[in-house]
Amino acid sequence: MTPSKTLPIAVLGAGPVGLAAAARLVERGLEPLVFERGAQAGASVAEWGHVRVFSPWRHNIDEASRALLEAEGWREPDPDALPTGAEIVRDYLAPLAAHPAIAPRLKTRATVLAVTRQDRSKLHSDGREAVPFVVVWRDAEGRTHRSLARALIDASGTCTRPNPIGRDGLAVEGEVENRARIAYGIPDVKGAARADYAGRHILVVGAGHSAINVALDLVGLQEDSPRTRITWATRGGGVGRLLGGGLNDQLPGRGQLGLAAVEAVRSGRLSLLSPLAVRRIEARGDGLAVSAERNGAEVALEVDRIVVATGFRPDLDPLRELRLSLDPSVEATPALAPLIDPNLHSCGTVRPHGVDELAHPEPGFYIVGVKSYGRAPTFLMATGYEQVRSVVAELAGDSVAARQVHLVLPETGVCKVAGPAPAAASCCGPAEEGYCAAARSEVAADVTDACCGGPARENAEACCAADEDAKAGGMAGCGCASTANADASCAPA
Ligand SMILES: Cc1cc2nc3c(=O)[nH]c(=O)nc-3n(C[C@H](O)[C@H](O)[C@H](O)COP(=O)(O)OP(=O)(O)OC[C@H]3O[C@@H](n4cnc5c(N)ncnc54)[C@H](O)[C@@H]3O)c2cc1C
Repeated sequence: MTPSKTLPIAVLGAGPVGLAAAARLVERGLEPLVFERGAQAGASVAEWGHVRVFSPWRHNIDEASRALLEAEGWREPDPDALPTGAEIVRDYLAPLAAHPAIAPRLKTRATVLAVTRQDRSKLHSDGREAVPFVVVWRDAEGRTHRSLARALIDASGTCTRPNPIGRDGLAVEGEVENRARIAYGIPDVKGAARADYAGRHILVVGAGHSAINVALDLVGLQEDSPRTRITWATRGGGVGRLLGGGLNDQLPGRGQLGLAAVEAVRSGRLSLLSPLAVRRIEARGDGLAVSAERNGAEVALEVDRIVVATGFRPDLDPLRELRLSLDPSVEATPALAPLIDPNLHSCGTVRPHGVDELAHPEPGFYIVGVKSYGRAPTFLMATGYEQVRSVVAELAGDSVAARQVHLVLPETGVCKVAGPAPAAASCCGPAEEGYCAAARSEVAADVTDACCGGPARENAEACCAADEDAKAGGMAGCGCASTANADASCAPA
C-alpha cells in the first residue's frame, strides 16, 4: 500500500537539484509541489551569486530541465563558459522556475518547518506506508499550513546551516556573542559587503575552495585598498592537497584557484596559519581579539572581522518524525557515506549513484542534492541531477531506469598519497613531496590519461578507478586513498 496517487510529490527546495526533480516529475507525468523558502528559486545559490563556479554550463544543466526550457525557446548559455552563481539563477533557474509546467507548482516564500506521516509519529508502524506525508510550512505572512504528499524529495541543501569555527564542531567561546563581526560562507567582500572589509585585518578560517575564494577576493580588494590585511587559517593541516590540485584538476577554474592562493602566500599578500585552532573570541574596540593554539603554542591575533568558511551541515530538525538511516559521521545514507567520506577519500571522485544508495527506512522519502552528502564537501550539481533522475524513475515505477547509470563525472582534483605509491600503481606514479607524479604534471589531457581514471565503478572502498583496479589485482590500492581534509567548505573539494 502506498499513499493515494492523486496526491503530489513534494519537493523541498527550489535550488538546481530541487528544480531538476520537478522537471523530472513533469517529464514522467507526475505532479510536483515545490516549496522554496526564498522569494525566488535558487535563493541559496543567489547568496553566493558573486562567485564563479568551477564547472562549465555543460555540467550545470539538467537534461529534463533543458528539454522543458528549449521547448519554450530558451537558448542555452555557452556550454564551456563558467557562470557565476547569479548567472546560474538568472540564465537557468529563474527561466526554469517560470516555465508553465513548473511555476504553478512552485510555492516561494514557503519555508518548510517539519515533515511527518499523517497521524503517525516516528514511533508508529501501523499502516504507516499507506498514509500520506504531511509538509508543515510557513508562508510570507507567517501563517502555518499543512500540505499532503504521496512522496517526499528533500532538496533543501545545507547552506542554511554553516559550520562554526570550533574544531570540535561547536562554536568557540565568544563566537555567538560577536556574530555581528563574523560572516559565514563567502561574503561578497569586493562588492556588497566591501565596506566591512576594505582597509581592515580579516581572519579567514577554512580549508576548502570557499575559503580560498574569500582569501583571494580579499587579495583583490588589497589592490584598491592597500591597508587590507588577510590572515588565512585552516583548522587542520593538509592545505597541500587543495593548493596542489592546480593543473591536474579537470575543472581548471578550481585548479587555478589553488595556484593563485600559492602565489598570494609566496608573495606575502596572504599570511597562512595552518593548522590553527581558535579557542576564544572577544570584542576589543571595533575589532576582535582572537586566542588560538598552533602546534601546542598560544597565538594571539587582533583582527577586525572573521570570515568562517568551514563548510556546512544538513538541517535534520525538520525530518525529526521520519525514519532516517544516516551514517554517524558523514550524515549521509550508510550506502552513500563510504563513497564520499572525506576521512577515507581524498580524490573527490564519486561514482554516480541513485535510488538504492539514497533510500531510507521511510518508504517514499529521499534526500537529494548537496544535502544528501551530509557533511561531505565534494558535491557537484551533475551528481544531483543523476540522483533525481534515478529517484523519480523509481517513484514512477520504472525500476529499470532507476538503476541505470547515465552520468560520467569529470575527475575532481588530485589524489594525495601518504607515501610512495606502489610500483604497480598506474595512476599516480611515485610520490614527490606527498603528491603523486601525475598530480605534478603540467597537463591532464583527458579522463583516461588523468591521475585516477575517474570515479570507482563498483567498489565502494575504492577511492578511484585506478585504486579499484589495484585492489582487484590484489594490491592494497593505488596509494591515493589517504587521510583527506574534512575541514572543507560548501563548495566541492
Ligand atoms: C561557492 C560555491 C561554489 C560552488 N561551485 C560549484 C561548482 O562549480 N559546480 C558544482 O557542480 N557545484 C558547485 N557548488 C555546489 C552547489 O551548492 C551545489 O552544486 C548546488 O547549489 C546544490 O544544489 P541543491 O539544489 O542541492 O541545493 P541548494 O542550491 O542549496 O538549494 C536548496 C534550496 O532549498 C531552499 N531551502 C532551504 N531550506 C528550506 C526550507 N526549510 N524550506 C524551503 N526551502 C528551503 C533554499 O532556499 C535553496 O533554494 C558550489 C557551492 C558553493 C557554495
